[in-house]
This record gives sequence, C-alpha cells and structure tokens, in this order.
Amino acid sequence: MNTITAEILANTSAVESLNILMEGNNRFVNNLKYNRNFLSQIEETKNGQHPHAIVLSCMDSRTPIEHIFDQGIGDIFSIRIAGHIVTDEVIGSLEYACKLVGTKLILVLGHSKCGAITGACQHKKLGKLTGVLAKITPALVTVQQRLQSTDHSETELISEVTKEHIIQSVQALTRQSDVLKTLLEQDRIGIVGAHYDVSSGKVEILSQKFI
Ligand SMILES: [Zn+2]
Repeated sequence: MNTITAEILANTSAVESLNILMEGNNRFVNNLKYNRNFLSQIEETKNGQHPHAIVLSCMDSRTPIEHIFDQGIGDIFSIRIAGHIVTDEVIGSLEYACKLVGTKLILVLGHSKCGAITGACQHKKLGKLTGVLAKITPALVTVQQRLQSTDHSETELISEVTKEHIIQSVQALTRQSDVLKTLLEQDRIGIVGAHYDVSSGKVEILSQKFI
C-alpha cells in the first residue's frame, strides 16, 4: 500500500475513496491487514499530507479508525468526539480538509453500544456533557415520534437513535456549511453516513451523498 501523494489524491474520486475505506474494513474483519512499514511512511509523509478521506466518529475506545479501515500514516484525517456530534469546530476542521487539502470524502461513522447515544436516550445530565448529549436529542425526538405507538425495548430505541443521528449528522454538514455544500454540488467531495458494529468489526453504509 503506497503512501498517498498529491498526484494520487488529485486523481482519486469520492467513490474511490469510499471503496478504499470499505476494502480496508473488509481486510480488517478478515484479519488480512496490510503489514505496513510505519517508519517508511513517516519518512514519506514528513513534508506533507494528502489524506483521501476524513472520518468524523465517536471517541469510543472500540472504534480506532485507522485499524477499522486498515489505513496507514497520512491516509485519513480523523475527528473523534463523543457521539460524533457536529459542532462549528468540527465543521471548520472538515472545511479545512476538503477545501484546503483536497480530501475527497467525508465519512460520518456512528457505532453500536454508544455511551453518548445511550446517555442522550436516558436524558443524563453532567457538567458540559449535557451540552454534548443535547446535540443528539433531535435524533431521539425524531425516533420517538416514529416509534410512538409501537412496542419497543430501550435497546431498539438506542439502535434507531444511533442510525437516525448518523443520518441527521450527514444532513447537518451541508445545512450548516456553505463551503461543504458548494464542494458537494461541484462534485469535488462525497459525504457518507455509516455504522460500525462493535461486536463484528463491520462497517455498513447508511446514506450516501454524491452528485
Ligand atoms: Zn460512541
């Protein structure tokens, strides 16, 4: 697996970037990870970086992004924050990657058994964590309205809120960022929502935005 150069990045599409990630996840779940020479990659990337994708994911210790997608040094940007919430600072980081570095794909990755989603569903309050969980509440409200009259367990509720929060996070990016919206309309980036299962290691794509 070669380290990404500016030329390779310029010739990589958002769809190809997604394929690189999904092929990497396939190697990960089959225990076929590339045996990378990290010292060589440090040498090859010391003067610049050209990551093909940026992943917005949760801080959960069971979702180590480079491992999950079998990526090397310089391959992907990674933003990790509880409940993969979308904040102005997160959007600014995404804009930097996509507009200034030329990264082709934004992947919003939620996961099963997420403590932040569970906390939001249970209306937990704690210091500034309350504000983090409030960013997940719109997904909870949507799912509660959808499930209103049906019989469902808390586990089912949390699972549904997790997926809804991924989809709402994807939508929030272009709604809250003119920079990302324009890049998407110009077919210069793709935005994808995906779900990671902590019991299998598998990534499943939930929504895709490509022009
Ligand atoms: Zn989580």
